[in-house]
Amino acid sequence: MKALVKAKDEAGLWLQDEPVPSIGPDEVLIRVGKTGICGTDVHIYGWDDWARKTIPVPMVVGHEYAGEIVEVGAAVRGLAIGTRVSGEGHVIGMQSRAARGGRFHLDPKTRGIGVNIPGAFAEFVKIPAFNVVPLPDDVDDEMGAILDPLGNAVHTALSFDLVGEDVLITGAGPIGIMSAAVARHVGARHVVITDVNPTRLALAAQVTDVVPVDISKEDLVAVMDRLGLKEGFDVGLEMSGAPAAFEEMVDRLVMGGKIAMLGIPTKPYAVDWTKVVFKMLTIKGIYGREMFETWHKMLAMLQSGLDVRKVITHRLPVQDFARGFDLMTKGECGKIVLDWTA
Ligand code: NAD
Ligand code: ZN
Repeated sequence: MKALVKAKDEAGLWLQDEPVPSIGPDEVLIRVGKTGICGTDVHIYGWDDWARKTIPVPMVVGHEYAGEIVEVGAAVRGLAIGTRVSGEGHVIGMQSRAARGGRFHLDPKTRGIGVNIPGAFAEFVKIPAFNVVPLPDDVDDEMGAILDPLGNAVHTALSFDLVGEDVLITGAGPIGIMSAAVARHVGARHVVITDVNPTRLALAAQVTDVVPVDISKEDLVAVMDRLGLKEGFDVGLEMSGAPAAFEEMVDRLVMGGKIAMLGIPTKPYAVDWTKVVFKMLTIKGIYGREMFETWHKMLAMLQSGLDVRKVITHRLPVQDFARGFDLMTKGECGKIVLDWTA
């Protein structure tokens, strides 16, 4: 099969021939239709310190995908060949207290498909049957291919009650933009999204009804005055990993405000904890999805009017993957979907 492989201990990915994975009794084999390029894949492509420490070489990468079941293991029940599916990309252990308590997303033995174990940038991927998420007919393969990051957005946005709240989102990458759409969908009042990249802010405004703010040029306090936010934003969703964005967020939140943090900083940074303490802010770290609860909520929201399709700005045949990675590296895009059937 064709697959995108981290074949060498250097920058790049290689489209090459790999054996089709053979499945165990509890696994399924999926023929991949479409895949999304994630920021994580860009780190792997560029081969930064994190990637070098984390990714085994050689390995097929990629974790955002949709396709069709073509084979089921002997012990698998309730999943049929031909079913259109995506899947939870975190493969968990089942022995920890968290997993046995049903809090699967907190299992400490979590391994990532396409990060720690072979991934989905291939014509076929195998995953545990437990991880499979069947897709409704009205969620097509390209939407199916971006459910993993939509799940990050949904997990973050639904961490706190947003009904009637004023929300500040820092970072208009694909996940920040999708979280803005979710915030609108569930009933936030004002949703302001900041970035330093005008292309991304313009995309945010196309995808959903948000107030885009170029934080390198505009003053957030002036925006708040315009919107009539006297005391600040109620909830912050940190989606950039940028220290300056977090600092701004702490300053612009109300007393008792809440922050859900998905953005991953490239290195440790100093925080003015005095402000956090005296404002009595709640800060919650967010990792992945709350597994199948998040998948349920996002599929249900897509079926009840949540529309994030415009966040997909490029659709490329897999042969053009290098162009996709180049656009991602430059930030000149939203989501990029690669077609494996072309
Ligand atoms: P992205 O890199 O595409 O978007 C981040 C955006 O933040 C960029 O558009 C960038 O221009 C912007 N930015 C930079 N400095 C800023 C500043 N000072 N203020 C406001 N915006 C600024 O990332 P993405 O794919 O949308 O993902 C969002 C973040 O979430 C990333 O940090 C990613 O690593 C992280 N992530 C975390 C998890 C998790 O499980 N915790 C999962 C997926 C992604
Ligand atoms: Zn991803």
